[in-house]
Amino acid sequence: MKKLLATAVCMACLGLASTANAATPVMTVTLLGTGVPFLNSFAPNLRTRALSGLLVQAGTERLLFDCGQGVYSNLLKSATSSVMSTANVAVDKVFISHLHSDHIADLGALYSLGALYRHKNPADIGSTPAELPLQVWGPGAGPNQPVGTWEMMQNFRSAYQSDFYVRQLFTGAGDVVFTDQTVDTLNSVKEIKEGVIYNNNGVTVTAFKVNHEPVSPSYGFRVDYQGRSFVYSGDTAPTPNVVKFAKGADLLVHEVYGFPRDAGAEIYDYHTSPEDFAKEFSKGKPKQVVYTHMVTPPGTSADDLLNRTKAAGYTGKIAAGADLMVLTINSDSTTTMAAKGGAAEYQAANAAKETRTFIEVAEAQAKAKAKMK
Ligand SMILES: [Zn+2]
Ligand SMILES: [Zn+2]
Repeated sequence: MKKLLATAVCMACLGLASTANAATPVMTVTLLGTGVPFLNSFAPNLRTRALSGLLVQAGTERLLFDCGQGVYSNLLKSATSSVMSTANVAVDKVFISHLHSDHIADLGALYSLGALYRHKNPADIGSTPAELPLQVWGPGAGPNQPVGTWEMMQNFRSAYQSDFYVRQLFTGAGDVVFTDQTVDTLNSVKEIKEGVIYNNNGVTVTAFKVNHEPVSPSYGFRVDYQGRSFVYSGDTAPTPNVVKFAKGADLLVHEVYGFPRDAGAEIYDYHTSPEDFAKEFSKGKPKQVVYTHMVTPPGTSADDLLNRTKAAGYTGKIAAGADLMVLTINSDSTTTMAAKGGAAEYQAANAAKETRTFIEVAEAQAKAKAKMK
């Protein structure tokens, strides 16, 4: 208990919300991946950031949002105890914001390896055949995306067909039977539109369109449970729809893109800079904001993204995320944050600077453009 209190105090020092009252936890959000491909992998401390993914737990519901590279491993690491029945990797409901690879790269792992954990009765994990299909909600095909979520999952099914086949043939002790239902993605994949897409055990998930052009359709999500609310932006340029659906939210996990416009205009146009964010949410602030999907320019850190947001006039509560950080939305609308490893690890991760130079970035971009010609 003493240790918990000490952590809470330190987190308060960092500018994170902390609570010491009788508020009870309503919903938890575990950040499974707060990084982006390539860019900040050059900063040693940021190599530990997985790509996009977060897990929401509300009542009996456990819902995964996005499944980028590293998310499967972090689902395993995020278990709160060694009891297999509590394994977060047993999650069987996934909501995909858009079909960029940094949001789907671990779906194949979750679909195939995760089947080992998907049991009707969690106590059966590791002892009897898995029987629950992976349910997936995601965008359909669009103007620039020939394959939607449904077809993508059929392709995963084809990719793992030999694995499933051989496991069905040789179901010896300790092995897993993959039933038709387990591998049946035909009935367990839903292509979504804006609106309520899930409502079960008091938990509602609402999808809303974001502007991540040319990747379209792209979505953000809002989760409501017992009067509390959580919003995930997905990847998006500033768009009134995010503000609309984040209105009154207790917690908003939002992407952020730190490069100036002249250092990669195309990418800038489908993400949100700290200054854009400050402007966009200057009115109608969520009660707590946590940045994810952080793109840090050379020589800068996640902390610098926060400082820029504040310098641009944002006065609400805001923090930078870290992998395996647990955000708990409480009954009094406060959000309590616990970083894996505590405040010191959190500080180190968010102070780590991108180590490439602008010249190196510019050269890489020029090379890429030359190849495209
Ligand atoms: Zn994207
Ligand atoms: Zn992304």
